[in-house]
Amino acid sequence: VAKDAGRNRYSRYTPALQEAALLRLRLANDLRGALANGQLHVLYQPIVHLATGQVRKAEALLRWTHPARGNVSPATFIPIAESTGQIGEIGEWVFLQAVEQVRRWREQLHPDFQISVNKSPVQFREAGHDRTAWHDRMKALGLPGDCIAVEITEGLLLDAGHGVAGQLDALRRAGVAISLDDFGIGYSSLSYLQKFDIDVLKIDQSFVRGLSATSKDMALCKAIIAMAHALGMKVVAEGVETEAQRQLLTAAGCDYGQGYLFARPMPAEAFETWRLNAAGVSAG
Ligand code: C2E
Ligand code: MG
Ligand code: MG
Ligand code: MG
Repeated sequence: VAKDAGRNRYSRYTPALQEAALLRLRLANDLRGALANGQLHVLYQPIVHLATGQVRKAEALLRWTHPARGNVSPATFIPIAESTGQIGEIGEWVFLQAVEQVRRWREQLHPDFQISVNKSPVQFREAGHDRTAWHDRMKALGLPGDCIAVEITEGLLLDAGHGVAGQLDALRRAGVAISLDDFGIGYSSLSYLQKFDIDVLKIDQSFVRGLSATSKDMALCKAIIAMAHALGMKVVAEGVETEAQRQLLTAAGCDYGQGYLFARPMPAEAFETWRLNAAGVSAG
C-alpha cells in the first residue's frame, strides 16, 4: 500500500490540494453570513493565579458552529478570515462581546477582572480611520483600559510597519495590557522585547507539554520566567493539563496558568458556575 501511495503521490496530491482549496473557498463564503446568522460565539477560559488559585482573568476564544459541518476550529477559520478581510469585522465583534462581559464580571466576580482578546496582525494593519480604536471605545463606554488585555504574536512585532508601534503604544497608555501569545515558537528574536513594552509573556503550550523536573522544557520555562521577571513582565503558562505541570510551574515562579487542568474554554454562564466551585477561587 505504501509503495502504491508513493507511486501515485503526484496524482493523489493534486486533487487533495484542490479539495483543500475548495473547502477554504466554501468556508470563506459561509463565514460571510456567520456573524449575522448567529453562528459565532465567544467562550471564556480561566487564567489562574498559580500561587493563590485566584481567577481574575480569562481569555476570550471564538467559536464557529457551522450549520452543516458543526464546530469549525478557529485554527482553520481565523486564517481564512484574515485572508478575505473578514477578520476586521469579526475581531471587532469579539472585542465588543468581551467588553460587555468584562463589564458584568467586574460587577459580579471581581472589580479587577480582565479579559484577554486575541488580535490578529491583519487587524493592526487594516486599522483605518473608519474604525474607532479599542481604547477610545472603552473610554466612551466608561470602562478603564485595564479591563482588557490584547494578545498579539511575535510576528506582529517583527514586521511592525503600518503604525503598529503607535497603536500598541496608544493601547498601553490607555492602560490596556499587551500579552505576547505563543511565546518561544516564533522567530525567537529577543530584540523586540527591548523595543516594545510588553506586559505579559504567554509561554507556548509546546514547552509546557513536555515538562518534567529534568526536562529541557523545564530549563526553557525557567529561563523564560527569569527573563520576563527581570524585564518587569508577568508570565502565563499555556496548555497546563496535569497537576505535575502545575506544581513545576508554580515552583518555578510562573505567575499564571491556563489549560484543561483548570477548565476548558466555556460559555460565560458556565464560567461563572465553574469559578464559584473551583477550589482556591472562592476566596477572591
Ligand atoms: P491561542 O490564542 O494561543 O489560544 C489558546 C488555545 O489553546 C485555544 O485554542 C485553547 O482552547 C487551547 N487550549 C487551552 N488550554 C489547553 C490545554 O490544556 N491543552 C490544549 N491542547 N489546548 C489548550 P482555540 O480556542 O482552538 O484557538 C486556537 C487559536 O485561534 C488561538 O490560539 C488564537 O490564535 C486563535 N483565535 C481564537 N479566537 C480568536 C479571536 O477571537 N481572534 C483571533 N484573531 N484569533 C483567535
Ligand atoms: Mg491567545
Ligand atoms: Mg497561545
Ligand atoms: Mg495561537
